[in-house]
Amino acid sequence: MPINWFPGHMHATARAIKERMAAGLDVVVELLDARLPGSSCNPLLASLTAGRPSLKVLNKQDLADPAQTAAWLDCYNAQPDTRALPLDAGERSPARLITRACRELAPCRGELHKPLRVLICGIPNVGKSTLINTLAGKRAAKTGDEPGITKTEQKIVLEPGFYLFDTPGMLWPRIAVAQSGYHLAASGAIGRNAFDEAEVALELVAVLARRYPERLRQRYGLAELGGPGGEEAVLEAIGLKRGAKVRGGAVQMHKAAEALLMDFRQGLLGRITLETPEEMAGWRRAAAEDEARQAAAREAARQADKARRSGRRRDDAADAGDAGT
Ligand code: GDP
Repeated sequence: MPINWFPGHMHATARAIKERMAAGLDVVVELLDARLPGSSCNPLLASLTAGRPSLKVLNKQDLADPAQTAAWLDCYNAQPDTRALPLDAGERSPARLITRACRELAPCRGELHKPLRVLICGIPNVGKSTLINTLAGKRAAKTGDEPGITKTEQKIVLEPGFYLFDTPGMLWPRIAVAQSGYHLAASGAIGRNAFDEAEVALELVAVLARRYPERLRQRYGLAELGGPGGEEAVLEAIGLKRGAKVRGGAVQMHKAAEALLMDFRQGLLGRITLETPEEMAGWRRAAAEDEARQAAAREAARQADKARRSGRRRDDAADAGDAGT
């Protein structure tokens, strides 16, 4: 599915991060959505902040499957120069957890004359503004349900000698792994005009039926999940339960999709994680192989075109030679 995600301010964000690197940056805090801890991880951030330790904060852990959160924490904690911790950004005192982890990642910084400079990043709607507000103890950033509110860099002094820099916008060139596109859309990170809700809901049904079938059955009173019609039949049954019928009896699939996505986002289906570290690694490998195949095909086509053009030039030259004799 082509998800047309062009989060605004991409170049401005890349520039802001480069400027922050030049001005001084000790730790990068990346807020991830604990329901999609792989898909919500920015593929460009690591290269832009190379050499800086990273703290992965799995936010909205209250909505995620605790066993999967533990697996993802292990996965990130095993990466070099990386710490990971779970969070619920609305909690009363997440500041201590985060400041302590950052200090451990950059033990030589944090004095008044050598402040610890921390960059905080995250996809839209991941809870960055909520966290910053909680950390700063005031309404330092606007919060809302629509993605993409935070637009300009802010410096927040969390403690003496501890600065938090908030980046504007997003940097995300394209979504290489198709499943990640679905998961990002299901989570609410992507503006609703950029994807087809029914398509995303059908993918969500597939994941839920595979990993959390009981939740689907219970929430919507469904007896059968694996019957004929597959995911469409399940989404239709959800629509029926949720009153997404038009006069005449047909289910409006987009209404059914909206209902399911809303329930998932609000945690009404229980604590759910859409992807495992192993699945994500497999998808990334497949996407990289696909990319390499496409690059090889493009190169082969380029070479063939070059050979054809140089052959044509030789023929033209030969023709011109013939004409001259
Ligand atoms: P931002 O776009 O990253 O700044 O996201 P916001 O801070 O505006 O949060 C988006 C939505 O997620 C809001 O409705 C928040 O109340 C909600 N939210 C943020 N953090 C959490 C969390 O840890 N758990 C839950 N359940 N909701 C959260």
